[in-house]
Amino acid sequence: MDRRSFLGRTMAGAAAVALSGLPLGAAVACAPEKKTKGTADLKLSFQEGIAPGNSLTEKLDYMEELGIAGFEPGGVNLAGRAGEIQQALKGRNIRISAICAGFGGFILAEDPKVKAEFDSTMRDIVAAAGGLGSTGVIMVPAFNGQKPCRPHTMETREYLVEQLHELGEYALKCGTTVILEPLNRGEAFYLRQVADAAAICRDSRSAGVKCMGDFWHMQEETSDYAAFMAAGAEYLQHVHVASRGHRLMPGEDGELDNYIDGMRALKEIGYDKYFSFECGTKGDRNVTVPAAVALLREQWNKA
Ligand code: MG
Repeated sequence: MDRRSFLGRTMAGAAAVALSGLPLGAAVACAPEKKTKGTADLKLSFQEGIAPGNSLTEKLDYMEELGIAGFEPGGVNLAGRAGEIQQALKGRNIRISAICAGFGGFILAEDPKVKAEFDSTMRDIVAAAGGLGSTGVIMVPAFNGQKPCRPHTMETREYLVEQLHELGEYALKCGTTVILEPLNRGEAFYLRQVADAAAICRDSRSAGVKCMGDFWHMQEETSDYAAFMAAGAEYLQHVHVASRGHRLMPGEDGELDNYIDGMRALKEIGYDKYFSFECGTKGDRNVTVPAAVALLREQWNKA
């Protein structure tokens, strides 16, 4: 042993002895922040169109073979489909992850009739989502094409957080949440970045209002890592994944499909929700789907 490593060991030993005299809370407070790193699981989830198969049962059989943990159905007619979905999931190791939209109207509509349509259809989906044990119902405040829309002003933001507060409290009563999804500016100029969505969650003052990141739309971000860290475990409730050039299966855009930076943040915040496929494919699903699953697991291990 050389002098430097001897001194290093001696100092480490002295530090351990010194810490052992402290109350437990003080020692924990001084421990590195990244204590959850590497302990989070990658809980993969598929939207309904991802797995090959002619029926929901065939798709779920395929997902189970691949070890997929979650299923993300669309919200259209969710209450009417709840029995079918519950029956198909019976006895499986697959749970409902998030519910993807499916409501009519939109929350920032200027037309009271369109807003009322949003309120009633969204609440129906939220109630059904709670019954299915879903992590939340995904929503976009306004797509670019949805008009007339409230203008992008301070008043509109205040209105949005008030409306979300009510909706979030309703979702909590139903046993679920609502999840804001930022999109790229080509689709939804109003909400584009994960940190902004998280700030809206905070300001809505309801634990039933959450947000998500979609690796496809996260082309708006300068850093996947910073985006997820900004939301943290408190607000980040769901993740969507696709290839990063053409929104295909992860891996179909080759070198572009690197998710490690974002995954590192998910591990560090101890993210325990789902990582869900929302994408198409140019190839044969029987080939591209298992390849994408293998790629994500490999990158998760490296992150
Ligand atoms: Mg998405």
